[in-house]
Amino acid sequence: MNFDAEVPIIIVGAGACGLVAAMAANSDGGEVVVLERDPVPQGSTALSSGLIPAAGTKAQKAQGLDDSADKMAADIINKAHQENDPAMVAALCRQSAVSIDWLNDVHGLSLGVIDSFLYPGHSAYRMHGTPSKTGRELIGVLSRRAETLEIPVITDARVTDLFADPDGTIRGVRFRRPDNSEETLGCQAIVLACNGYGGNPEMVAKLIPDMKDALYFGHAGNQGEAIAWGRDLGAGMTDLGGYQGHGSVAHPHGILVSWALMMEGGIQVNKDGRRFSNEHDGYSEQARRVIAQPGGIVWNIYDQRLHDFAQDFDDYRQAETAGAVRQAATIGDLAEICDLPADALVETLRDTEALSATGGQDKFGRTFAKDRLASPYYAVKVTGALFHTQGGLNVDERARVLKSDGTPFANLFAGGGAARGLSGPSDWGYLSGNGLLTAVTLGHIAGAQAARLIKNEISV
Ligand SMILES: Cc1cc2nc3c(=O)[nH]c(=O)nc-3n(C[C@H](O)[C@H](O)[C@H](O)COP(=O)(O)OP(=O)(O)OC[C@H]3O[C@@H](n4cnc5c(N)ncnc54)[C@H](O)[C@@H]3O)c2cc1C
Repeated sequence: MNFDAEVPIIIVGAGACGLVAAMAANSDGGEVVVLERDPVPQGSTALSSGLIPAAGTKAQKAQGLDDSADKMAADIINKAHQENDPAMVAALCRQSAVSIDWLNDVHGLSLGVIDSFLYPGHSAYRMHGTPSKTGRELIGVLSRRAETLEIPVITDARVTDLFADPDGTIRGVRFRRPDNSEETLGCQAIVLACNGYGGNPEMVAKLIPDMKDALYFGHAGNQGEAIAWGRDLGAGMTDLGGYQGHGSVAHPHGILVSWALMMEGGIQVNKDGRRFSNEHDGYSEQARRVIAQPGGIVWNIYDQRLHDFAQDFDDYRQAETAGAVRQAATIGDLAEICDLPADALVETLRDTEALSATGGQDKFGRTFAKDRLASPYYAVKVTGALFHTQGGLNVDERARVLKSDGTPFANLFAGGGAARGLSGPSDWGYLSGNGLLTAVTLGHIAGAQAARLIKNEISV
C-alpha cells in the first residue's frame, strides 16, 4: 500500500503512556510521530490525580522511605486476589523505579513522594507526583518535554484503521481530521497508547453491565479502539471486565473527593444515616457499593482535623469552592443540613467512637484505631463513578502485543489502558496507582523497544 507519508514509529494517543513512549523512543534514537485525536493532549491522565506508584526510587530514598519492588508486587497481587499475571506484576514493579528515576533525572520532572498518608492496600509510601499532585500538571510537563525534544505530536488526528499484513505485521494507519478528511501514515513499528473503552457506553454495557448507568469520570475519547483493532488482528485480550471505580465523587458537582479522608478516619453513611461497608477495602470497589445505596448517593462524614488535612488536595479545595463541603457544630445540626435522620447518625458516630476507643473492628472488618471524629463535623454528598477500564490487549514484559496463541506480533506494542492491567477481572482488584503504573512503565518499555526494533537491535 502507498501511504501519504512514512515514519519509523507511530504512537497512537498522547496521554501519559503515549508521551512517555515517545520520549523513550526518542532517547533511544527512534524517530517517532504521535497521533492524538484531541486538539490538545489530555486524556484521562489530565483528569487523574497524576500519582504514579514506584518502589525503590531515588525520590523515596531522599525522603528516607524504605520500599522494594517485591513489596510493591505483593501489594498488587494481594489486592487482585492473585487473579492478575504475577510475572507482569513483578516486571512492572521492577521497572517502576527505573522509569521514575529516568523521568526525574533525564527529563527533570520533579516527581516527589506523598508521605502524609498510605493509599489503601499500599505497604509503603510510593505514590509519586509532580509538585501540585495533579494530572493536569503531569500531562503539562510531559507535553512540554515532548515539545522540547521536538517530538511531533499531531493533534486533531483520530486513528481509525490499522493496516496489517496477513501475518499481523502493521504497515501503517489511517487517521481522520475534524473536517472528516483522511490521511494515511506508514510505519515500521507502532505503539497503541489510546487507553481503554470507558467512554464507549455500548462496550461498558456489554463488558461491565453493573456500571452501565454509572457516571463516567474519565476521558470521553477512550472509545476502545485498541480492543476493536486487537480483535480484528487476532490479539489475545484478558480481564476485559476489569475497571477502576471510585466511591467518592461530589454530587452534583462532579469533583473527586480524596479517599484520603476515609483512610485517615472519615466514614460513609447512606441516606438512612448508616454505614454500609468497610471504607478501607479501597475506593474502586466502593463505587458499586455506593451506587447500590438508595438513590446511588451517600455522605462522606469527617471532621475539622480531616478538613484541614484535605486542604493539601487540589480537588478538595475545588469541591469546597464549589459549595460541596458542609460544616456543622453538632451531629444533630449536620444531620439537619444533610437531610439525614439525626438519631441514626448520632448512633453511627457513637458506634465508631466506641470502636476507636477500644481499637476494635466493626462488622464490615474495618479497624478504627485512630479514627475518633470530633466537632465541628463536615459532610460531602457523593456518588460512585467509573474512572477507567483495566482490561485490554495481552502484552509481555517487552510491551509486545501477543496474539491469541501467545506469540508476539512483529511490530505492535501497547501500554497504559490499551493493555491488560494488573487488577484482575473486576473492580476490587484495582490497587491505587495501577492505572498510571502501566501507562508509564509500559510506555517507557514500548517506546524503547520500538526504537530498538527499527534499528534492528532486537528481533521479535
Ligand atoms: C479522575 C481520575 C483519577 C485518576 N487518578 C489516578 C492516579 O492518581 N493514579 C493512577 O495511577 N491512575 C489514576 N487514574 C487512572 C489514570 O488516569 C489512567 O490509568 C491513565 O491516565 C491512562 O493513561 P493512558 O496514557 O493509557 O490513557 P489517556 O491518558 O486516556 O491517554 C489516551 C490518549 O489517547 C487518545 N486517543 C484515544 N483514541 C485515539 C485514537 N483512535 N486516535 C488518536 N488518539 C486517540 C486520547 O484522546 C488520549 O489523549 C485516574 C483516572 C481518573 C479518571
